[in-house]
Amino acid sequence: MACSEKVYTLDDLRAWTRREPSFAVLGKPIAHSLSPKMHNAAFAAARERRPELAEYRYFRFEIAPEELADALPLFFEKNFHGLNLTIPHKVAALPVLKKLSPEAEIIGAANTLVRDDALGGWRGENTDGRGFARAAEMQLGVRLAGTHVVLLGAGGAARAIAATALAQNCASLTIVNRSRERAEALVGALAQSQMPDRECRIFSPDEIRNPGFKICDSRESALVVNATSLGLKPDDPSPFPPELLKNGIAVYDTTYGSHTSALVAAARERGVPAADGRSMLAWQGALAFERWTALPAADTFPAADTFPVMFRELS
Ligand code: NDP
Repeated sequence: MACSEKVYTLDDLRAWTRREPSFAVLGKPIAHSLSPKMHNAAFAAARERRPELAEYRYFRFEIAPEELADALPLFFEKNFHGLNLTIPHKVAALPVLKKLSPEAEIIGAANTLVRDDALGGWRGENTDGRGFARAAEMQLGVRLAGTHVVLLGAGGAARAIAATALAQNCASLTIVNRSRERAEALVGALAQSQMPDRECRIFSPDEIRNPGFKICDSRESALVVNATSLGLKPDDPSPFPPELLKNGIAVYDTTYGSHTSALVAAARERGVPAADGRSMLAWQGALAFERWTALPAADTFPAADTFPVMFRELS
């Protein structure tokens, strides 16, 4: 019998006999993923109101990059109704998808795939950016509109956050990244995607240590977002100089784990509001869940109800 604790492989998928609607997260590595825990808790909670979800289950699959093109059609064939993609598949999957949402197109990556029987394949969506926006508002009381956003990183998570910050009319966007080339590629991609015209600055981690670097005027508010991998390990240094954390600034660190990151700790020491990435993880999951269950508006089980169930599983 299929088990949501197990790490499945492509060979397991080839031999898959479960016919009830299934869901999965695909990545490599994948054993650490908390998505099965979050989604199975949400299915269990939803079942009381929606008995037809009783047999819905969420699994994890370790899929290597070279297996992805074979795996995606096979998941469709085996009656999977929704998939989440994580490292390293969010961009690599795009050519195999039948359709992309405008949001995923702008971000240039998909983290959520929705079964589309009419198209005979997968539709790609991206819930990372909106998940981040909701998490920042809920935990820090920060709305992106009118806020100066300082984004540390230019990888996949940063792309989703940058596109959402611009789409929601942030006051300005400052990207700080180790590789300038990658930051420039991100700004170039955003410029081509008809985002609202906002000032976009690029700095290296060394440049923001210069005395002349200023986030915004003292009466304005700013949000510093860590979307680098620094913070994942307990002994990682802060990706942002703690001395720049002052009144009017809030910090959102997309990393999460059993430890408090150096950035979040430094912010709290200075009385600066700070949150870790668990709320973003739960929000992006709740928004994916909302897509998959496709419940009509009049009888909805919206993401706002799913979020607390998922967030509880991460504490
Ligand atoms: P990517 O590999 O696409 O990007 C990694 C980023 O981190 C790049 O900007 C890279 O800089 C930077 N980086 C890596 N190592 C260092 C270092 N030693 N010093 C400075 N910068 C470094 O990864 P993702 O964008 O997918 O993920 C980034 C982070 O976001 C991860 O920590 C991940 O856990 C988190 N995340 C959280 C989510 C949530 O729901 N909470 C969802 C998705 C991601 P460079 O370009 O110079 O290499």
